[in-house]
Amino acid sequence: MITDAVRERARALAEDEGLPAFVYDLDALRSHAAAVRSALDVPGGPELFYAAKANADEPILHALEPYVAGFEVASGGELEHVRRVLPDARLAFGGPGKTDQELATALRLNVERIHVESPYELARLAQLAQEIGREVDVLLRVNLKSDSGRKGVALSMSGPFGMDPEAMEACRPILERAPWMRFRGVHAHLASGLDAPDMVRQSAEIVDWARSYGDVEEVNVGGGMAVDYADPGRIFDWAAYAKGVATPDVRLRIEPGRALSVYCGWYVTEVLDVKRAHGDWYAVLHGGTMHLRTPVTKQHDQPFTVIPTGGPTGDSGGHPGGDSGGDGPATAEPVTLVGQLCTPKDVFAREISAGRIAVGDVVAFAMAGAYGWNISHHDFLMHPKPGFHYLSERG
Ligand SMILES: *Cc1c(COP(=O)(O)O)cnc(C)c1O
Repeated sequence: MITDAVRERARALAEDEGLPAFVYDLDALRSHAAAVRSALDVPGGPELFYAAKANADEPILHALEPYVAGFEVASGGELEHVRRVLPDARLAFGGPGKTDQELATALRLNVERIHVESPYELARLAQLAQEIGREVDVLLRVNLKSDSGRKGVALSMSGPFGMDPEAMEACRPILERAPWMRFRGVHAHLASGLDAPDMVRQSAEIVDWARSYGDVEEVNVGGGMAVDYADPGRIFDWAAYAKGVATPDVRLRIEPGRALSVYCGWYVTEVLDVKRAHGDWYAVLHGGTMHLRTPVTKQHDQPFTVIPTGGPTGDSGGHPGGDSGGDGPATAEPVTLVGQLCTPKDVFAREISAGRIAVGDVVAFAMAGAYGWNISHHDFLMHPKPGFHYLSERG
């Protein structure tokens, strides 16, 4: 699971006191993205955009660029960032609560599609585009009460996102009055965490609904392709999805984030202490969930690899009788991995049988490439920030 390049760098960082750190394997990201892209390459298959909010680090965007058709951005900040990093990339701008300033920025920075969230937003966009003197292409974001794939949905996107069919109707007269605003089709992002068969059903529902709404050239069926934190090797079946959704007469687009970038990142740290409290074993790690909040927000065990180092290498002052290779405690019992925060929520993984774990060992948490550092509360407790390393054979 852990790549050789990451393992090697993790060891080196441990020796150089460079932990904790995020280590991204850009070559692994490129091969994954290339595989996804080629799986989608069937007649009538979907065009691939990357949802930048999953991880918009510059090296990640550069590595993905050759394999994706474009990028979906969800705020004015992301929009300006991605436009600066990739001046020629095709962009789609979505997200709730767009300000006039953000909409104007989108018009100025040549966003290819704006995904409109409400009739009021559509009316404001029409007016701004007229004032600035730009034409604009829109998809209307629909909020459907989808039945497909209810089970296993990690995050249902109902609620305030997009427009119900009634609000979609209210858009028609606004569009008619503003011919400089071109209706291209429908957008929907209904749930995340769906596997391929459920995603095929959901996408088909969206396409059917879009056809019933009107003459649509294109349908963006969103992101949300499943990843499995409990079984990282079980990846979304892109080929089956592409075959299942392929539609000859409508241009299809998808915009996954997590399922593209999650696998390329590791949060690498080291064991500071191993202790027992009321019968339970804990490994206290350098850093914490202020760097990698994902296991807290998703309430899961973050998958990890222990890279034994035999404990602290300093030969001085070892405690005689210590049962690790170094001079600190160790355990082979099921262990809970925690960080340095003064909260019981600072847990990466609970009661895991991981073999022997000792003070000084390196722990590399996998699947930290998406919704990791960028969703975390970095400043809580004022610990130092981690290092960031982007590995690439291409330099
Ligand atoms: C977050 C988001 C995505 C990406 O979702 P993933 O679960 O990361 O694939 C795509 N589209 C929209 C509108 C989103 O809000």
